[in-house]
Amino acid sequence: MTIAIYPGSFDPITHGHLDIIKRASSLFDKLIIGIYDRPEKSLLFHTQERVEMARQAVAHLGNVQAQSYSGLTVNFAKKVGAQVMVRGLRMSSDFEREFEMEMMNKKLAPDLDLVCFMASLQYQFLSSSLLKEVAQLGGCLEDMVPDHVATALRDKFAQKTHKVS
Ligand code: ADP
Repeated sequence: MTIAIYPGSFDPITHGHLDIIKRASSLFDKLIIGIYDRPEKSLLFHTQERVEMARQAVAHLGNVQAQSYSGLTVNFAKKVGAQVMVRGLRMSSDFEREFEMEMMNKKLAPDLDLVCFMASLQYQFLSSSLLKEVAQLGGCLEDMVPDHVATALRDKFAQKTHKVS
């Protein structure tokens, strides 16, 4: 049985991530979305909110789970018995960083293999950070995130505006 992890911030999960998840879940027996619990990084959503949004988005995929983790990703992989780590590559932004991280991960965990999926054409320019900017400015989020994530984004920015005023 091949178990794969797909680690990331998922702040929040987008259709770009979900496209990778769908493709990876058809290749591996089990796919575990690992959501970094990294309080020092400035994130919009709390860890439990990111986990819940991811769980709801993959509820229809029987072999996909979502859980949070802290510490080294290679240790998370070991803990859940994963042999493979999945990442997505967008044309313009991801290759160098992924390459560097993989060289380090290989030193730390030689048995863990990285499988990268090329982002699909329609999601090449979709990132969680850009999405948050659009949401903050009241832009349309259709086609970029599932409905429950769009609602969570709107609510989060409404709360923030409310707090400031
Ligand atoms: P991280 O903080 O690790 O970059 P992200 O949540 O931003 O976490 O991304 C998790 C993974 O998903 C990374 O491999 C990233 O390159 C990939 N990814 C992000 N957005 C997309 C997208 N639109 N299409 C395909 N892969 C993506």
